[in-house]
Amino acid sequence: MTDSDLLSRHRAVLPDWLALYYSEPIEIVRAQGRRVTDSLGRTYLDFFAGILTNAIGYDVREISDAVRAQLDTGVLHTSTLYLIRRQVELAERIAELSGIPGAKVFFTNSGTEANETALMLATQYRRSNQVLALRNSYHGRAFATVGVTGNRGWSASALSPVKVSYVHGGYRYRGPFAGLSDADYVAACVDDLRDVLATTTSGDVAALIAEPIQGVGGFNVPPDGLLGAFKEVLDEHGILLISDEVQTGWGRTGEHFWGIEAHGVTPDVMTFAKGLGNGLAIGGVVARGEVMDCLGANSISTFGGNPVATAGAKATLDYLLDNDLQGNAAKLGDRIIAGLRDLGDRYGVVGDVRGKGLMIGVELVEPGGTEPSPPAAGVVLEETKARGLLVGKGGLHNNVIRLAPPMTLTDEEAGEALDILGEAIAVADEER
Ligand code: PLP
Repeated sequence: MTDSDLLSRHRAVLPDWLALYYSEPIEIVRAQGRRVTDSLGRTYLDFFAGILTNAIGYDVREISDAVRAQLDTGVLHTSTLYLIRRQVELAERIAELSGIPGAKVFFTNSGTEANETALMLATQYRRSNQVLALRNSYHGRAFATVGVTGNRGWSASALSPVKVSYVHGGYRYRGPFAGLSDADYVAACVDDLRDVLATTTSGDVAALIAEPIQGVGGFNVPPDGLLGAFKEVLDEHGILLISDEVQTGWGRTGEHFWGIEAHGVTPDVMTFAKGLGNGLAIGGVVARGEVMDCLGANSISTFGGNPVATAGAKATLDYLLDNDLQGNAAKLGDRIIAGLRDLGDRYGVVGDVRGKGLMIGVELVEPGGTEPSPPAAGVVLEETKARGLLVGKGGLHNNVIRLAPPMTLTDEEAGEALDILGEAIAVADEER
């Protein structure tokens, strides 16, 4: 059942290209902990954390109190023309956490806007509009970000203002380097990077933008160290490394606070959003000071870093760190990945289980081979929902189930989700 009146009104006035999950889409009207309730009174365990936005779950008193206290001052918004205490405090924390020497922070309202800003900074700093990106990447839905998005689903890239060249290194399960050992894969990708640089660019390139683990592309985990090996090549040319941490930041990958740390390298620029606001609209860029300051313009952001969003974000960051949610993500992520690999041994429809921390992908295939099975992913999406579990879907072939619950997840909830996923995967396997 769905609210068909609301659905038809939605379809009438919102764009066709705005994806809606489920044959019968739901409206979420209440939420608490890791559970959300729809307008028809059904409750679900949310294993996608909104869309990796609700890093610490729903209805968290510390966050509500911080936001309410700001609302109670009557100051909802002032703009960057004035000093905003919470913005300065949050910037100080993020600059320090970034590990980037002399870092400066600029706040935006989304991940897209953060990446647009990062690309603008890099292209200005380097006086070049040539950019490198990974195949199968996703960086946002605005003009430059859609251009560096290396996924055929976003074909508007042809119109982008950046000149982009794509390199391998994102999606390892398929493609010419599938099946190689970690070391051989890194070597092959580095060779590819050198070749792409030499053959498709003038060499005078602004930046390489990369997600340490691809999100929309299907939670693809490259070998540790790959981006570090890339950075050595980039440094030969003065090319900047932009790490898009919109999904991988804030400890979600378990072993590190930022995804890039697995690569043993400090980027020149990092972008972030999603989990920081625990649902509030906030994103940003943290960059080496000289890169951040290269614009020389007298610019503003009307809403970026506003007092309400930064108050909520600061409370979220405190909560994440005080409660070691990164550690929880590591522990429960290992448990879920192991449970899913057991399912993979039992069901041929599971082609690959991969992930780090609470960022876990299950790639579904036609049993007996590796051909992508979008229908199987569709079955798992519907069958988990029918059993009270919300999951994500994505990947180049739309055949990857994406699991990214709030990082406050409990052991019991992890078990509950594994049971439901087992049942849903069994149905998908049976049907193929
Ligand atoms: N970068 C990455 C890695 C993302 O996953 C996303 C969104 O999914 C974005 C950028 C764009 O962020 P937003 O949707 O907040 O504009």
